[in-house]
Amino acid sequence: MTKYKINMKKPFVLAIAAGLLTVMSCNNQNNVTVGDFASYPAYTKGDLGLTYTPQASTIKLWAPSADCVQLNVYDQGSESEAIETIQMERGAKGTWSATLKGDRKGQFYTFQVTTEGKTLSETPGVWNKAVGVNGLRAAIIDLADTNPEGWAEDKHVEVKNYTDIVIYEMHHRDFSISDNSGITNKGKFLALTEKGTLTPEGLASGIDHLKELGITHVHILPSYDYGSIDEAHLEQGNYNWGYDPKNYNVPEGGYSTNPFAPEVRIREMKQMVQALHEAGIGVIMDVVYNHTFVNDESNFSLTVPGYYYRQTEEGDYSNASGCGNETASERPMVRHYIVESVKYWANEFHIDGFRFDLMAIHDIETMNTVRQELDKINPGIFVYGEGWMASSTPLPAEQQASKHNGMKFPRIAVFSDDIRDGLRGEWMSAGEGGFATGKVTQRQKESIKFGVVGATQHPQVDYSKVNYSGAPYANNPVEVINYVSCHDDECLRDKIDMVAKDATPAQRKRMDLLAQTIVMTSQGVPFIFCGEELYRTKQHIRNTYNLPDEINRIDWSHKAKYADVFAYYKGLIQMRRQHPAFRMATTEQVVENLHFVDSPEGTVVYTLNGAAVGDEWSEVYVVLNGNRGGVNVQLPVGEWNIVCEDGKMQLDEPRAFGGGEFWVHGTSALIAFRK
Ligand code: CA
Repeated sequence: MTKYKINMKKPFVLAIAAGLLTVMSCNNQNNVTVGDFASYPAYTKGDLGLTYTPQASTIKLWAPSADCVQLNVYDQGSESEAIETIQMERGAKGTWSATLKGDRKGQFYTFQVTTEGKTLSETPGVWNKAVGVNGLRAAIIDLADTNPEGWAEDKHVEVKNYTDIVIYEMHHRDFSISDNSGITNKGKFLALTEKGTLTPEGLASGIDHLKELGITHVHILPSYDYGSIDEAHLEQGNYNWGYDPKNYNVPEGGYSTNPFAPEVRIREMKQMVQALHEAGIGVIMDVVYNHTFVNDESNFSLTVPGYYYRQTEEGDYSNASGCGNETASERPMVRHYIVESVKYWANEFHIDGFRFDLMAIHDIETMNTVRQELDKINPGIFVYGEGWMASSTPLPAEQQASKHNGMKFPRIAVFSDDIRDGLRGEWMSAGEGGFATGKVTQRQKESIKFGVVGATQHPQVDYSKVNYSGAPYANNPVEVINYVSCHDDECLRDKIDMVAKDATPAQRKRMDLLAQTIVMTSQGVPFIFCGEELYRTKQHIRNTYNLPDEINRIDWSHKAKYADVFAYYKGLIQMRRQHPAFRMATTEQVVENLHFVDSPEGTVVYTLNGAAVGDEWSEVYVVLNGNRGGVNVQLPVGEWNIVCEDGKMQLDEPRAFGGGEFWVHGTSALIAFRK
């Protein structure tokens, strides 16, 4: 039996204070051994939560360890007194149900579970799809009412190979909150629906900017309902990344124009997806099923105490997330919950991809099930995650969806911290640089090569010298995310400032460009952090998860100020999207068509056989020079066209070069092709 402790003191007292214990009359009728989670029968019929019709609303809950469950009905989403309280009826396999007659649209409800003689706090349950302000009460709505005009025609974006994807990771507030964003719905889902917005200098901002940049998918930071922002007081303008899940199947109210009206946040998020789809851009959600915002007071704990979380041997919450708890995906109803939640977002909101936070906390079987179920909806839906965790877990290592086990969950990608830190320096040592900043040791160089081959098996990579991984972790390049920065830690410009203090501002900018050149030309799936293309800064602050907009926001005046940086990023993305040589889908193709060439110290040089993968560039020559100084390289004699040199992209006007000795400037890339 799994031991677990739950602290019921507080909810018990609250229940007494609310006078609710008096209406409870229930015996210990449950058929399970409380705390022995294996004795809890799974229920996967698909009707948990609300089933709404204008004639009646049926509400169902899975709570096998409950002695009884009370349903409280309200006419408001917060604060008001219950207008009705109903004892739910016990059904099969640990379920409880109640039917409310008549059209209940616009009403709200909570559950109150009594288990082991104790009555827990109210909860909107775990299967709710709509909530009132701050996600305290579930809402009765008709989901069909939330569809924007034309929603039936809205489709997932089409993806052939995941390596065709270029990901842009953004926070809603970062992207639009600045005074100079030109956007009206600042910090809202609707910001991404506004076309024709401009920076003060008259350049495209908002969604038009994304189209101009050429990315294929936007990865939005947590946008389910999270707990750290008071939705009733949005005028306070508080900021949070949102890694504190509350209601998994409901959009966050803080990003809507009215968090009190349950249907508004749903409709507005759909409008956002629709607008991005119309622009040809997919939407990826950052999902955080690995932990919840609170422990005993989470919707999970208030429904089936202990079940949704792993426990230590002492019976406490284990804490692989570093946030106070970790979920137990290996238990049938937790796995079922995660899988159904992902399917719901994909079906109801037409979401095109999922980024799993601390994915190694989840077990491999759960991730494989997620992949299989999404394939039934659309195989182009992309799944990736962090192949690590924040602390230790009771889940055995061989079951963890970690990058070290990456080959056991095919077609799901993991982030490559190997190339990231190879490029910029190790995350735990603030002053340490990487290949792009001029630290060009064998370790950095091999970590770059590891990234170039998309974390796959390649005969010319010495895996023993790679940063953190002694072996490849991708079956194919579609299973790795190459990146140099994301919301975590310093943004790229800040990191370079900190590790290359001796360099001039111009040199540091070149380091930024070189780093992203390597990200965009490597095999695998490239990923950039919002605003890097505008040379953003976060004032050299490492962890900005709850800091004010002043630190986190994009300053749109940078688009004119750093026009050279933007043009370079845009050119890089354009080159990648036009040339399949940079986006091979299989390891076999990479092994056959990507060859490293002997090269001077501090450089990585390789050729690509474009012809073999249908590229009009039959041969591509790539020189990555991490040295601060220039080096001579020898190109074979031939009719080369140089599209990138000395920190400039010149895709539309390549320079002709007949081969032979070529001077590659310090901290820059050379990219040349032959037809
Ligand atoms: Ca919220």
